[in-house]
Amino acid sequence: MIEFQAVSKRYPDGTVAVDELTLTAEERQVTVLVGPSGCGKTTSLRMINRMIDASSGEIRLAGENITDRDPAQLRRGIGYVIQHAGLFPHRSVLDNIATVPLLTGATRRAARARASELLETVGLPAELGKRYPKQLSGGQQQRVGVARALAADPPVLLMDEPFSAVDPIVREDLQDELLRLQSELGKTIVFVTHDIDEAVKLGDKVAVLRVGGKLAQFDTPAALLAA
Ligand code: ADP
Ligand code: ADP
Repeated sequence: MIEFQAVSKRYPDGTVAVDELTLTAEERQVTVLVGPSGCGKTTSLRMINRMIDASSGEIRLAGENITDRDPAQLRRGIGYVIQHAGLFPHRSVLDNIATVPLLTGATRRAARARASELLETVGLPAELGKRYPKQLSGGQQQRVGVARALAADPPVLLMDEPFSAVDPIVREDLQDELLRLQSELGKTIVFVTHDIDEAVKLGDKVAVLRVGGKLAQFDTPAALLAA
């Protein structure tokens, strides 16, 4: 479980990106941060893995203040997926996914076996493993991005507009796939989107942010729709 306790972020130029944010992302649930561009979604997400440090307030992961954690060690338990999959262009799909197990000490053989398994997990055919990222469609690249984020088997997944760059039909596919995966894997997911329909579809809980970084609402999709 991830707890934000009155978390604020003021950038050096004075911009207040996040203003006294308090919310809890429950274990094994999808918590969505939704709101217009500039409302502090990405900043909030990046504070969880300490790519950005909060200016004030406290973030706790499984009860422990994350500022007490070594950032590199913290990130090993947190997968991160971004809008453009962020794949290494000069490595094959399989090697992109295998990178993480290799870095954490797996043999090349074990890393590739794990990567093949993950390709299947995200619904991609094994043949695609030999291709390079640019030889895949946008939707396929995003699936590889998800597979790579899952490679270290992190309990927490941070997803920043992972499906925003693909066309609407593929996007629906990816959303369905994520729900299927989540019902199997039960990760603690924090998912950022500017699309309220996506938020309602994917979230167990939805946090609606306003420009200025204030929390406007935090509730289940059903309660939000009823309001
Ligand atoms: P969102 O993800 O909701 O689009 P961001 O978290 O990226 O919002 O940005 C929130 C606000 O903080 C915006 O006003 C943005 O311009 C500003 N911001 C983001 N990064 C920086 C930065 N490094 N320095 C100054 N302002 C920033
Ligand atoms: P997003 O897709 O999250 O809205 P942006 O295009 O707003 O991305 O921002 C891209 C990068 O630029 C991010 O790393 C963000 O932190 C940084 N950034 C955004 N706004 C500002 C700003 N006003 N000043 C400096 N950096 C910024």
